[in-house]
Formats: sequence, structure tokens, C-alpha cells
Amino acid sequence: MPDLHTLLWLKSIGIKEIIMPDSIKTKEQMLSELHKKVLNCQKCPLYQKKTNYVFGAGNPYTSLMMVGEAPGYEEDLKGKPFVGRAGELLNRVIKELGYNREQDFYIANVLKCRPPKNRDPLPEEIAACTPYLEKQIRIIEPAVLVALGRYSGGFLLGSKFKMYSVRGRILTSRYGIPLVITYHPAAVLRRPNLAEELKKDLKLAISLIAEGDKTT
Ligand code: URA
Repeated sequence: MPDLHTLLWLKSIGIKEIIMPDSIKTKEQMLSELHKKVLNCQKCPLYQKKTNYVFGAGNPYTSLMMVGEAPGYEEDLKGKPFVGRAGELLNRVIKELGYNREQDFYIANVLKCRPPKNRDPLPEEIAACTPYLEKQIRIIEPAVLVALGRYSGGFLLGSKFKMYSVRGRILTSRYGIPLVITYHPAAVLRRPNLAEELKKDLKLAISLIAEGDKTT
């Protein structure tokens, strides 16, 4: 960004807007510009019933990005991803592995608006919303993607799958980035015996990040 003097001079010669190429913007700047676009999104009817758009949160310089399905009740109220019971469970598992979700990773959802009564996302909603997620992935440039649940797994893998046949494995996402697909934390809340599998899968994903390279 030009300094204040340069900005004032540009203003004095009639320049009202400066468009900088993405290559010289910080990740925070690029994400904040994208966030502003999301806050005006009307690409599918979900925006009409939502309380807040839920963009994403965490460290934009992370090597590991997690992708959930869609905001739930609490996320819709607060405008932040994974702040309800599923988020608390996810935070606990991440903490047990020695990490902090907000500081060490970035998390976003396939859909930025809550589907009524937490119903499953519709194909047309996924098609309308995923360009935002794709842009988030391009900005963050993670070394590893973790899909939480079947909707983000299906989207990031680019094909249908059975959870039992993919989890615990390193796959390749549609973007060529290594992908680990695991259970959605909400499924783990319903079936607590899956917690160890979720933890193992997250550990596997974290192991793909070079030692001492949590956030580069
Ligand atoms: N479930 C999701 O998939 N995303 C959230 O943000 C919360 C619950």
C-alpha cells in the first residue's frame, strides 16, 4: 500500500482508486476484500434467511486449512465458523494434539450461509458458494486440506466417496493439494466413539506439514 503522502498526492492529481495486483497484497488484505464481497452475496436464496454470513477464521499464513459444511445455529448468530458444540469438540481434539485452531490453522465452510434448520446443502447452493471457498484456498495456499464431513469431502475430492474407504488416507484434492477427509465433528458428537478416528486423521494431516513449519 502506498504511504500517506503518496496517497494524498495521488488524490490531489485526481486519482480516486488504486487497484493493486493480488501479488503485492497481504493475505489479510486479499481475504478482507473477499469477505466484503461475501457480505453482499445474493447468489442463492440462503442469504435471505441467514442472520450473518460466516466467512472463515484463523491464521491466513497456515499450512493447514480445514473445510466444514455450512454454518449452524451458533455460527449464524455469531458470524464465525465452528463456534457451537461441534466447534468446541474440534477445538478440544486439536488442543489434545498440541495445537490451537485459531492460531495454527484456518477454517472455512463450503457454504457461507446457514441452510434452514441445518438441512443438507443443495447442489445449486454449493455451485453458487464454492467460488468463495476456492478463492480462500488460492489466497491461503495451504500445504494440506482437511475436509470435515461428506459435503466438503465430496467437493474437495471432486467425486463421490464412502467415508470408510477414504478416511485415514492421504488423497489428492481437485486443486492438487494433499487432502485428508475425516468425520464432521457434529457426527462425532452423535457417535463419540468416532473421536479417536477424527484425532488420528487430524494427526495424519498435521504430520504432512514439515516439523516446525506450522504456520509458514
Ligand atoms: N458445522 C459446519 O460444518 N460448519 C460450522 O461452521 C459449524 C458447524
